Amino acid sequence: MVADHVTQSTNGDDETQLDMLSSTRVVIKNALERLGYPNEVYELLKDSLRMLTVRIPVRMDDGSIKVFTGYRAQHNDAVGPTKGGVRFHPNVTEDEVNALAIWMSLKAGIMDLPYGGGKGGIICDPREMSFRELEGLSRGYVRAISQFVGPTKDIPAPDIFTNSQIMAWMMDEYSRIDEYNSPGFITGKPIVLGGSHGRETATAKGVTICIKEAANKRGIDLEDARVIVQGFGNAGSFLAKFLHDAGAKVIGISDAYGALHDPDGLDIDYLLDRRDSFGTITKLFNNTITNQELLEQDCDILVPAAVQNQITKENAHNIKASIVVEAANGPTTPEGTKILTERDILLVPDVMASSGGVTVSYFEWVQNNQGYYWPEEEIDEKLTKAMIKSFNTIYNTARTRQIDMRLAAYMVGVRKMAEASRFRGWV
Ligand code: GLU
Repeated sequence: MVADHVTQSTNGDDETQLDMLSSTRVVIKNALERLGYPNEVYELLKDSLRMLTVRIPVRMDDGSIKVFTGYRAQHNDAVGPTKGGVRFHPNVTEDEVNALAIWMSLKAGIMDLPYGGGKGGIICDPREMSFRELEGLSRGYVRAISQFVGPTKDIPAPDIFTNSQIMAWMMDEYSRIDEYNSPGFITGKPIVLGGSHGRETATAKGVTICIKEAANKRGIDLEDARVIVQGFGNAGSFLAKFLHDAGAKVIGISDAYGALHDPDGLDIDYLLDRRDSFGTITKLFNNTITNQELLEQDCDILVPAAVQNQITKENAHNIKASIVVEAANGPTTPEGTKILTERDILLVPDVMASSGGVTVSYFEWVQNNQGYYWPEEEIDEKLTKAMIKSFNTIYNTARTRQIDMRLAAYMVGVRKMAEASRFRGWV
């Protein structure tokens, strides 16, 4: 096994469990200090430049009107227009959208994309809404934010519980308001509406590339590796498939309701066939375990691909994997990061591992702008090259500076935005 020489954790010893926004700020501050930037740069970057709250009335199927609350955050547009997904989830909060917008800025910086970060969210439960109600909500959201966004201002995309159909409704609504066909307003569209080949699987592909690189560094052969993937949504399900096809043994998967575990390997193709569009699968089985139990099962590679705050100070000591690759946003708390790092578990952070989605979104936007479309092989090749380059920049930064990969990723991710903000004379 190759030693990583990763000795210092992202946060100080007295760091307690923090919410996502506060913990992101701690790492940004640390990254900026190490890069030699004065505190005023941190003061600018610790929050989104703009945060819009909207109220969206939707006529429901029973004839009543329900008013939903939504947000759109634009973190920093010094480098270029802001970019990031829209999440439909009952737990969406303003702080969460703010933190997620900051993460999008970091992802854009890490992948060297000409964007700043943005994020949107609507407090709703799409699992309990009809197709017609979802269309009303998607169109209503775009009407509410239309003056705030646009192909050269802020470009939305899919996130948790939103998909290419929702992107299609949003693009259609924006195009009506704009009076032009505006495919570049949003990414993650169906191919026939200017979507890009490879966008649907891009996050999973990016994570797979990171897993291969990480396994390589740790001398693990992916063909012999036992992998657990927490989450069976867009990222988790395609990821399980890619890893299975690469010869790895996927021994555990989960959804919001429970987890399936089989040390001999799961039949991923069967599970993919039976999952619903929200990634629900475990309801079909009796012999399930909990998500928390799944995380602690023996394996070589653990991929949290569901929601935030899964690996914490409570369970980080019990993680058996030697590599943890974060496909979800924020699955490991600061304390969790510290414990995994001290235990010499290689942790590939979310802002690196999950940046394949926004990278192919960038390719989609470029194709929309130029009106010329690339075949899937070209997208794959561009994504693979970009991910490998960024992974190694961050891995090497971590090794040379004796820091964990999260802090290294933040240093790489924040630099361009800090530099651009300075050149513009903002700080
Ligand atoms: N929602 C995805 C993310 O968190 C993709 C964003 C995009 O494609 O712009 O990275």
